[in-house]
Amino acid sequence: MSEPPEKRPPSLCLVVPCKDEAPVLEETTRQLEAVIERLVARGLVAEATILYVDDGSTDETWALVERLAARSPYVEGLKLSRNFGHQNALYAGLMHTRADVAVSLDADLQDDVTVVETMLEAHREGYEVVYGARRCRRVDSLGKSLPARIYYKLLHLMGAEVVDDHADFRLLGRRALDALAEFREVHLFLRGLVPLLGFKSKIVYYERQARFAGETKYGPRKMISLALDGITSFTSAPLKLIAWVGLFASITAIGLAIWALSIKLFGRTVPGWTSIVVPLYFLGGLQILATGVLGIYVSKLYGEVKGRPRYIVEAEARPRVKPSPNGDNRPAS
Ligand code: UDP
Ligand code: MG
Repeated sequence: MSEPPEKRPPSLCLVVPCKDEAPVLEETTRQLEAVIERLVARGLVAEATILYVDDGSTDETWALVERLAARSPYVEGLKLSRNFGHQNALYAGLMHTRADVAVSLDADLQDDVTVVETMLEAHREGYEVVYGARRCRRVDSLGKSLPARIYYKLLHLMGAEVVDDHADFRLLGRRALDALAEFREVHLFLRGLVPLLGFKSKIVYYERQARFAGETKYGPRKMISLALDGITSFTSAPLKLIAWVGLFASITAIGLAIWALSIKLFGRTVPGWTSIVVPLYFLGGLQILATGVLGIYVSKLYGEVKGRPRYIVEAEARPRVKPSPNGDNRPAS
């Protein structure tokens, strides 16, 4: 009797977006190869590839990916035509692979690669989505971890569903990947999209490592833009908040008018500078804020309506050698 299909080990693709990651790629490849060999030996996966997505690097990254693909039986590369940003590069990799399971992780070895094994065990138990969440943020500076905490709390408060302390280290099964392909939005915030897919999911915890080499490509500007995308793509709470604040301001204004009138009637008029200027500034500020929030949503609509491609592929690199069971890798014919 043949084995039921779900019992057969799946094929795996490790999707790794890279922007100027030349200093780490050799080491990353070495560690990921070791992970793959272990997974294959344990029968958790039938075969595996490492897909490096070069997101418009300006250093040696792509040349290195090509070299690694020529040398390693596992390495594949996808070169985007310019820098599309981490989320888009990751998405490009996820859409490119035909593997049964994809695990996305950072090139800089900050995500504990040994957790990939735990993720695949969970997948074998029937979990279609497995989130990697950081147990602690010790290695991130306070300047990065505190805003992150507040931000996640805020997202929850506004009704967006995200997994706490989970970045983009996650496993997606084929059904989840196909479902993800159905989402049409241009402003990608995968952390918010993936929970919307549904399916059986699980969280595995890991310790966040320090960056192996090189430096972060997520400057304050990129972080703020990602944070705003997270909020404005998944909740219209700020728009509703504006309406409530507006209502509150109007009621206060009415109260103020009644108060002013009563003072006038009882003849104790104080020629009030404060009572004019304070509400003036306050309401003026509110109006500008409200317009700004509306503006953000409108500009987002504008981006979505244009529907530009989320990424453009310039080149591909495929492994030129096939893995051999005895570990000695010869060029594939
Ligand atoms: N990255 C990318 N495109 C970008 C910025 C970053 O593909 O425009 C990649 C980067 O190479 C890394 C991952 O996204 O593999 C996470 O970036 P980074 O480590 O700089 O962010 P941090 O961990 O500091 O938040
Ligand atoms: Mg990093």
